[in-house]
Amino acid sequence: MLIKDIKKKRALVYCRVSSEDQGKGTSLDEQETLCLDFAKKYKLEIEKIYKEKGSAMKPEKRKMFNEMVEKLRKGVADVVIFAFVDRMSRNPVDGYKIIQQVEDEGLTAIFVQERLYLQAPIESSEMLMLDTVLGVSNYRVRLDKEKCKAGIKARALEGFRPNRSPYGYKNDKRLKTAVTMKKRADFVKKAFELYATGEYTVVEVAEKLYELGFRYEFQPSKIIPKQSLISMLKNPFYTGKYYVKQAGEYVNGNHKAIVSEDVYDKVQKLLNLAPKSPRKHALLYSQLLKCENCGGFMVGDVKEKPNGKRYVYYRCTNPKCNEHLSIPEIVIDKDVESYLKEIRLGLIPKEIINEAIKDELYPMTQKLSGYRRDVSRKYDRERRLYKRIVEDEIVDEEYIRGAKALIQEEYGDLDSKIYYTQKQIETIKNNVAENLQKRLYDVYTVFDSKTKRKALELLANSFKCTEKGLKMTFKSAFRKIRKR
Ligand SMILES: [Zn+2]
Repeated sequence: MLIKDIKKKRALVYCRVSSEDQGKGTSLDEQETLCLDFAKKYKLEIEKIYKEKGSAMKPEKRKMFNEMVEKLRKGVADVVIFAFVDRMSRNPVDGYKIIQQVEDEGLTAIFVQERLYLQAPIESSEMLMLDTVLGVSNYRVRLDKEKCKAGIKARALEGFRPNRSPYGYKNDKRLKTAVTMKKRADFVKKAFELYATGEYTVVEVAEKLYELGFRYEFQPSKIIPKQSLISMLKNPFYTGKYYVKQAGEYVNGNHKAIVSEDVYDKVQKLLNLAPKSPRKHALLYSQLLKCENCGGFMVGDVKEKPNGKRYVYYRCTNPKCNEHLSIPEIVIDKDVESYLKEIRLGLIPKEIINEAIKDELYPMTQKLSGYRRDVSRKYDRERRLYKRIVEDEIVDEEYIRGAKALIQEEYGDLDSKIYYTQKQIETIKNNVAENLQKRLYDVYTVFDSKTKRKALELLANSFKCTEKGLKMTFKSAFRKIRKR
């Protein structure tokens, strides 16, 4: 390739290395030597030598390259020298910046090793060569990266884990395996076992471990923090497996398992079931129960176990109270129920019941009296019709039939209407009577908790808690229908 008049012109030199080129034998100094050797031949005047460490895959990352391009735009030099094409760029954005200078500003770009000298106008064969050299070099870099990844993956699939091992293990670089550390492994094992019972929350497991004499050395308190314990319980490494990111799969490691897969699976299920954050509970008896000793309200406390079981306790939290009462909700439930069993709805006086259901029956009794009025009105209309027929000596049967039908249409089948309305009233009365045979308890137990709460507020005067359970008093209206 010929180079037109570049002798004694001003030149910039650009050298670059990056981590991806390591071990390729083209150091910054070697590149510089190649470039300067070329410059010497053409008696070029070197304005500046740029030496840069950085990847050429992405634009914007190379400070010196961009600075050099800026200088070229300002016309500081007529020639730019690279030792190799791929030292200029591996990305088309940066490459274009140089080519543009060549085509529009009369720059000469020299690639020493490929003996490629670009001057305007760039010929198609020159562009092809540039693209080909860059293409091949990019291909090599990417291929090397892939090979490297594949190597890591292959080694990983064989069971060697290059990363730091979790608590309970220590990496042995010589044996290329993770070895268990007895004390810590026991700690991990116990943590899994305790959680797998489903009887403890994560925080309770941490406390329980400490109680049982297991110490977590990384904390001054020697109690494992909640988040560390959660990550521990989620880590499949303890079953002898580990995750290989490059392969996207779990593989069997060459380390010993601390936890069986059964226990591990059980723990995962429980972890997924456990409520993520403590929920606010609307408790049935909150702000209702009082401590008999101090008169303060008992405070509800919910314990939710990972196995889904929920335990509610009511405690006296008054620090001045010396009773320290704590009663399970189920005890209160039982006591409330036995109180409600004493309330006989059947003992409610009839007048009170009738008064109570009057409202419900009102629309039906109204209808019924309306129908009864209609019966006499209808009768009256028919009587007058017959009177007229007789008096006027009407013999037209069609007329008579039509006049009768008109009356019938206006009032409808009153007998049926009366019958059904009476039945309706009867049914309601029967239902009430049936309920009156029941105890309040029977009605109460089918209520939802919101209705239960309302009912309790309505019928009880006070709820006092003692060591033995609940002492409940009824409002006067209910005291009258109480039968022990
Ligand atoms: Zn108290």
